[in-house]
Amino acid sequence: MGGQVLNGGCLCGAVRYSVSGVPVDCGYCHCRICQRASGAPMVAWATFPLGSLDIIAGDPRAYASSAHALRHFCARCGTPISFRSRHSPTHVDITVASLDDPSLLPPQYHIWTMSQVPWLKVDDRLPRHSDDGPDRLP
Ligand SMILES: [Zn+2]
Ligand SMILES: [Zn+2]
Repeated sequence: MGGQVLNGGCLCGAVRYSVSGVPVDCGYCHCRICQRASGAPMVAWATFPLGSLDIIAGDPRAYASSAHALRHFCARCGTPISFRSRHSPTHVDITVASLDDPSLLPPQYHIWTMSQVPWLKVDDRLPRHSDDGPDRLP
């Protein structure tokens, strides 16, 4: 993970963004809210300082997925783009798979494995946390 500028966007192309700088961290989330919001068994997130994210095109809609969190997505095609929480107001998470090249940000851990779907077999050696894990923000 370096300090390059990464580009990404939604499925239909209405939302385009760039992120710059070094991600604080990157990991898989197996929580039920991510599962429901994405329709997928888990979501890979990369965390950046808030100012690193630039929305270049489109106007992502926000959904309050809990009392402290907003999830932004393309209003046209529904692609999840980003996550913000009052618990870490200086940072934003982006969905790694919405990057043009998701291979550039390999996840480093798993969180909320208590709700990992049992048929999903993960044989990597990454750290696993049953809850949200240790605080990784600086
Ligand atoms: Zn879209
Ligand atoms: Zn989650």
